[in-house]
Amino acid sequence: MEMPIPSDFRIARKSELMSRLRAVLPPECVIDDPMETRAYECDALSAYRCAPLGVVLPYTTEQVATALKICFEMDIPVVPRGAGTSLAGGSLPTADSIILGVARMNDVLETDYANRFVRVQTGRTNLSVTGAVEADGYFYAPDPSSQLACAIAGNIAMNSGGAHCLKYGVTSNNLLGVRLVTMQGEIVDIGGAQLDAAGMDLLGVICGSEGQLGVVTEATLRILHKPEGALPVLIGFDSNEVAGACVSDIIRAGVLPVAIEFMDRPCIRATEEFAKAGYPDCEALLIIEVEGSPLEIEEQLEKIMSIAAAHDPVEVRRANDSDEAARIWLGRKSAFGAMGQINDYMCLDGTIPVSKLPYVLRRIGEMSQQFGLGVGNVFHAGDGNMHPLILYNANEPGQLELCEQFGAEILKLCVEVGGCLTGEHGVGIEKRDLMDHQFAPDDLEAQMAIKDVFDPKWLLNPAKVFPLAASERRRDQGL
Ligand SMILES: Cc1cc2nc3c(=O)[nH]c(=O)nc-3n(C[C@H](O)[C@H](O)[C@H](O)COP(=O)(O)OP(=O)(O)OC[C@H]3O[C@@H](n4cnc5c(N)ncnc54)[C@H](O)[C@@H]3O)c2cc1C
Repeated sequence: MEMPIPSDFRIARKSELMSRLRAVLPPECVIDDPMETRAYECDALSAYRCAPLGVVLPYTTEQVATALKICFEMDIPVVPRGAGTSLAGGSLPTADSIILGVARMNDVLETDYANRFVRVQTGRTNLSVTGAVEADGYFYAPDPSSQLACAIAGNIAMNSGGAHCLKYGVTSNNLLGVRLVTMQGEIVDIGGAQLDAAGMDLLGVICGSEGQLGVVTEATLRILHKPEGALPVLIGFDSNEVAGACVSDIIRAGVLPVAIEFMDRPCIRATEEFAKAGYPDCEALLIIEVEGSPLEIEEQLEKIMSIAAAHDPVEVRRANDSDEAARIWLGRKSAFGAMGQINDYMCLDGTIPVSKLPYVLRRIGEMSQQFGLGVGNVFHAGDGNMHPLILYNANEPGQLELCEQFGAEILKLCVEVGGCLTGEHGVGIEKRDLMDHQFAPDDLEAQMAIKDVFDPKWLLNPAKVFPLAASERRRDQGL
């Protein structure tokens, strides 16, 4: 993966930068010991690493603003970071940048049940937002599989989704407002505490902007009443394509389960060895969860089972209590970890129209043969958000490059069938050079013009999102 050549001029200013930051921030907020900055060299796309100049971990929005003002004055690039679980290299630093992490900013600032929102500092983990309100019968809906670790900051930047987003939508559908600090150190409030705020919908620009426009320090999030009940059913099939066709038929029939998750044989096998969830021996399985009152659950399950029956399932397993439900979810929730135990892998992320699932799954199987690399599929099938896991050997020269080529072909296929390069993991460094397969030059120009306004020197999160050559030209102009 090509990255910009780091600036010797900036690297030479490291000690001046650190002294200026230390003069205005608490001592523990500024880190430049190489042993301590190691933890920030990469995110969950761990094939790519780079040591930053230093790391700043503020407690408050005002401290974020102070740090950004100094970096702006000194022309130092800044990489915003939540928990570092990005699978697209979104929080990968460059050697001449600092990481600005919000991990210490994890307080709940306001809870308002009458108006159904919670306001948090963005370093708070996704799961602990629900943790703060669940005793009162509420929850925060977007649920990335990384929710135990990932922060609301990264969720907003990547417009993250999760298993239950089929029904509740992704982060942008559950975000009401943000407090954002610009690269110049200005603090701005965008959106509010209601579904629609006065003025232009800038919130839609910020959510999914991958740390390109500012550092988000606070978020107002919509919370929902917990449903009366929920029940998953597991359905096994003898081919990926048939399972894909079943998903497409369920969506076409107008049933709206809360989640439809897909796993193929390589993932089922790895998961069984790892988590022993008791999954059936089959080529592909779907986990479909419905929720509501007991009557609503029965009605939805009946429809789903009858659609599935038309696809000759090899197994149908319905959870009858919370223990059985937890066992059905156990394998799916451990799938990424389980695959990591048996192989190096690169997790892709693209979205396709649900009706194209059978075709795309078949083509991925064929490409796997052509490239000679194994692939496992585990993904949110209900909204067409695919996650092929390409298996490779990181220690064998050339395998990473082959894996990247295979990944690029899969993502181009997603665009070809009418889908898009990004699902929920964003663009980061992983997909930036494929952006011109999705967008015409004018479209990309319009997107970069938005960054010009928020970040005129192009210092925020360099070398991400936009094709490298285009963003390098912009950076040269900006300085
Ligand atoms: C095992 C596993 C499972 C996953 N499952 C899912 C899933 O189901 N759904 C899903 O959507 N994702 C998933 N992910 C990907 C990842 O967890 C999400 O992208 C998540 O939102 C990243 O959050 P983070 O706090 O770790 O962000 P980071 O990795 O720290 O950063 C991600 C991006 O956000 C930017 N950013 C971080 N903080 C800020 C800030 N304060 N202001 C502005 N920009 C900022 C960064 O610069 C970077 O571009 C998974 C990852 C793993 C490892």
